[in-house]
Amino acid sequence: MSSLGVGKEVLSLCNKCKLTLAHIIVTMKTDKVPHKVQCKTCNGTHSFKDATLEKIKKSGSRRVTKKKTGPAVADLWQAAVNDPTKEHHKYSPRTAFHEGDVIEHPTFGAGLIEKLIDHDKIQVIFRSDIKTLIHNK
Ligand SMILES: [Zn+2]
Repeated sequence: MSSLGVGKEVLSLCNKCKLTLAHIIVTMKTDKVPHKVQCKTCNGTHSFKDATLEKIKKSGSRRVTKKKTGPAVADLWQAAVNDPTKEHHKYSPRTAFHEGDVIEHPTFGAGLIEKLIDHDKIQVIFRSDIKTLIHNK
């Protein structure tokens, strides 16, 4: 591309046409940056606006929408374990448990039964881990 200068064409954002259009450079700010430009479409003269810069600004300011996350697993565990209405069942692989039950495991401590995976398997949330245990044997 030929270097910019007075009388040359340049793409600029036109504030009247609201579009990136060919403009004729009227005056230069520096050797490489146009100052005033004249729109070839509406013949209006205005300051040069770099279309590429405008685009970058727009995409940069676009808001990133945060995904709403459900309550964290740790919060669920905390709430269930500290719920005074919940009975803490002693864990045994022979006992049949239900979803939402709170168990006391000899090794892992208090756990909340998140779901029944199978008729003999449960998924249990412990303080720092989620484990699959057997039940109803
Ligand atoms: Zn224009």
